[in-house]
Amino acid sequence: MAELTGKVALVTGSSRGIGRACVLKLAEAGARVVINYFSQLEAAREVQAQIEAAGGEALIIQADISQSDQVQAMFEQIMAHWGRLDILVNNAGITRDGLLLRMQTEDWDDVVSTNLRGLFNCTKRAAKIMLKQKSGKIVNLSSVVGQVGNEGQANYATTKAGILGFTRSVALEMASRGISVNAVAPGYIESEMTESISDAKRAELLQKIPFQRFGSCEEVAEMVLFLSSDKCRYITGQTFNIDGGMVMK
Ligand code: NDP
Repeated sequence: MAELTGKVALVTGSSRGIGRACVLKLAEAGARVVINYFSQLEAAREVQAQIEAAGGEALIIQADISQSDQVQAMFEQIMAHWGRLDILVNNAGITRDGLLLRMQTEDWDDVVSTNLRGLFNCTKRAAKIMLKQKSGKIVNLSSVVGQVGNEGQANYATTKAGILGFTRSVALEMASRGISVNAVAPGYIESEMTESISDAKRAELLQKIPFQRFGSCEEVAEMVLFLSSDKCRYITGQTFNIDGGMVMK
């Protein structure tokens, strides 16, 4: 029997990038999965087709995680369809980069709304279900930028640092019911979020990465799978950097 047989997993923002790799990995391990997307239905359908071709089950749900009513509807749909939720991967996130003096209030608000309000909206609803089940795994996508900062990303870095405080606080609240809450903090990962980085900037960044390359979505998904599985039984409130050694430099 596969590791996650019988489990139901929701990965927010799983039409592309790291979320896509996570939902594929969880489905491969036997979980029935929910592919949440914001704007790219075709991409979500491709992920679903890939999972179904391998014999898995996947439900697609469109929802903007920053909107409480849409998240509520998504959770109602999951419960109506599968009646349980065992794993939540809070992956969806956005950037709106700019130096502080040029950053518009809208750029600040959009990033905070998706990256933090979205995290709150989804975790609160998942927690309600998991507390009743007396089990569950929650994995939050932070970033090394939340630990070391980054020029032009004051809004994004603030949210990614905030995710760590949220992770520890919710881990404390939920530990007595056997629910773990952990975070992964990727460094530079090959995805649409990083494809606009210029060659010159890329060469500069590689100097700061001991492994001298960007990571892959799959490499992040491996850790997310571990933290979502029963192999991870005595770990909560922790952050795991997946950054090729970047924060050591
Ligand atoms: P991508 O930009 O490639 O994908 C973002 C995903 O989030 C898409 O599936 C998108 O949906 C979804 N999304 C965006 N806004 C919303 C919303 N409001 N509601 C629901 N879904 C939404 O991102 P990555 O894969 O690169 O990043 C994933 C996570 O990992 C993020 O939290 C990011 O901060 C973090 N991370 C990424 C790093 C990297 O180097 N790539 C490094 C460190 C952390 P759709 O396609 O439908 O629009």
